[in-house]
Amino acid sequence: MVKYIKDLFSGIYALLQGMVITNRNFWRPKVTEQYPEDRQTARQFERFRGELVFDINDNNEHKCIGCGLCARNCPNQSLEVITKSVTTEDGKTKKVLDKFLYDLGSCTFCSLCTQSCAQKAIKWTNNFEHAVYNRSALVKQLNPEGSKVVERKAAPVAPKQAPATEQNENQQ
Ligand code: SF4
Ligand code: SF4
Repeated sequence: MVKYIKDLFSGIYALLQGMVITNRNFWRPKVTEQYPEDRQTARQFERFRGELVFDINDNNEHKCIGCGLCARNCPNQSLEVITKSVTTEDGKTKKVLDKFLYDLGSCTFCSLCTQSCAQKAIKWTNNFEHAVYNRSALVKQLNPEGSKVVERKAAPVAPKQAPATEQNENQQ
């Protein structure tokens, strides 16, 4: 009987404790994001990894040379780099990027790909809205149609210094 009464009061005490916490939070000012009503103004942190994109300039040029290093370093096989061979103006055969496919659905946002790209061709955006009706819509081609790799100007070659000869050294 004593145990029954003890358990009863213990239960009532635990119930009241819970109600006090609920009541306290009920009257607190709300801090919930008003998503999606604030879609136009909602911002993520600058370093938030939302979605991979190509770094494209105003001339629709990207920096990807199709080396495939990023895809090889991706632990989830979320990247597929498809290349093709083209003949340049001087008759040489060159490998260029055809399609760069990114499966956002299997990406874990680890950023190993961006870190392994020496060309800095891919980067993150803050886009966080990825809801789709079909998973295939999450496979995206990052290089826009008609885009091409940016022309890199060869660094000017410094004139070679003549090796110091014995005669030159004697003249000094
Ligand atoms: S994104 Fe970078 S690492 Fe990946 S294929 Fe292009 S140049 Fe190579
Ligand atoms: S962030 Fe990670 S998982 Fe996503 S594509 Fe890059 S390497 Fe793969």
